[in-house]
Amino acid sequence: MSRTLLSALIALAIAAPCAAATNAKTTLTPEQARGREIYSKLISYKTSEGNGQVPVMAAWLAQQFRDAGIPDADIHLLPVGETASLVVRYRGDGTGGKPILLMAHMDVVAADPKDWTRDPFTLIEENGYFFGRGTSDVKDGVATLSSTFLRLKKEKFVPTRDLVIVFTGDEETQMATTQDLVNNHKDLLDADYALNYDGGGGTLEETGQPRTYSIQTAEKTYADYELTVHNPGGHSSWPRPDNAIYQLADALKKVQAYKFPTMWNDTTLAEFTAEGKVAPGELGAAMRDFAKNPRDEAAVERLTRDTSQIGRTRTTCVATMLRGGHAKNALPQSAVANINCRIFPGVAIEDVRKTLQEQVGPGVEVTTTDHPTASDASPLRPDVMEAVTRAIHKIHPGVQVVPNQASGASDGLYFRAAGIPTYGVGGMFIKDSDSFAHGLNERVPVKGFYDGLDYWYALMKDLGGKH
Ligand SMILES: [Zn+2]
Repeated sequence: MSRTLLSALIALAIAAPCAAATNAKTTLTPEQARGREIYSKLISYKTSEGNGQVPVMAAWLAQQFRDAGIPDADIHLLPVGETASLVVRYRGDGTGGKPILLMAHMDVVAADPKDWTRDPFTLIEENGYFFGRGTSDVKDGVATLSSTFLRLKKEKFVPTRDLVIVFTGDEETQMATTQDLVNNHKDLLDADYALNYDGGGGTLEETGQPRTYSIQTAEKTYADYELTVHNPGGHSSWPRPDNAIYQLADALKKVQAYKFPTMWNDTTLAEFTAEGKVAPGELGAAMRDFAKNPRDEAAVERLTRDTSQIGRTRTTCVATMLRGGHAKNALPQSAVANINCRIFPGVAIEDVRKTLQEQVGPGVEVTTTDHPTASDASPLRPDVMEAVTRAIHKIHPGVQVVPNQASGASDGLYFRAAGIPTYGVGGMFIKDSDSFAHGLNERVPVKGFYDGLDYWYALMKDLGGKH
């Protein structure tokens, strides 16, 4: 789940008075009770890397779907090493077009019970929160998508198109299950688009009031490159005119001086339009000006000057590590620098390598390391944006819904790269001060979980219903 800069800016713009969280216990509806029961069961599986528990949890989920009447042929448990994916097809009547994928991941980041105040593998409700590893990243999503399927099945809802749950098994580590799906199970993923629970989401003021809702529509590509200079070397008492370290230093100065061209997409302009309304002073003005005309040089210059903004309008590359030489009294035979790049959606990884090569010249070797994957921004489809807005407004009427480009990577990256437009539309609203994903004492507001059930129920019925 990502927090957006927009929410941070609005937080600055609005002075939030303190209010004690209410903690009223209410009677649960049967759907809420079932959702909670599934959530609690999922938290109890230690699905962090190396425990082999993802397939066990997936098998338990598969049984719930079978019991609800989904035929075995539409339930696919796909092992990859010690983990697995689970794909479950809820058949529609086919009148509404291609299927919609509904994504989340079943694995969690490791949690050592010794470090936690409460047992991380028991769902504990306390003071208006659900505590436990995976409560926010992202077993809330697995529980919500699963229990919504079960509820719709019970109500004998027949969608106009197939709704397909795709739960991956190692999003937090290798993403091997994700790659296995897009490479080896294309038939299961044939879809109009994907909705990812593990992206987007809402933010709450410290008072508990909803602030904004973000739909994640794009992710920048993470890529590392190495600059390498080789040299015959020799004795340091006989310095030669060429020297691997000096050549590498010259090359690095060229990388430092180079600025990638300004770029934007529909998400960039929509984000700046929304943030420009609340961001203070000249930064807010630059956002508004850029949103109106991305070729406005003064606006570009102002945004580029701000380290928190520069990456939003271009590819960035920066030197992060160095190694070179082999002895204090020898001329270096090689020198290597790592260049870390965050590539704007739509730009090829190889094109960035070529640009770096052009900048540093032929004496320096530029190579791509670690097999990065690039993905395009997904189009801001009105049908998706409008349906998400309608469903969000059912739980938080009138809240502003804004597209968002993330700088990190999720499973959505591989789906976009495989040509499936992917929208991060998680249903949880949370305060910035309650965001403990990956950390200790991970938690979500109890109300956020139950609201999320209503939101996904509304969203699936809307997108899978007749229009
Ligand atoms: Zn996640």
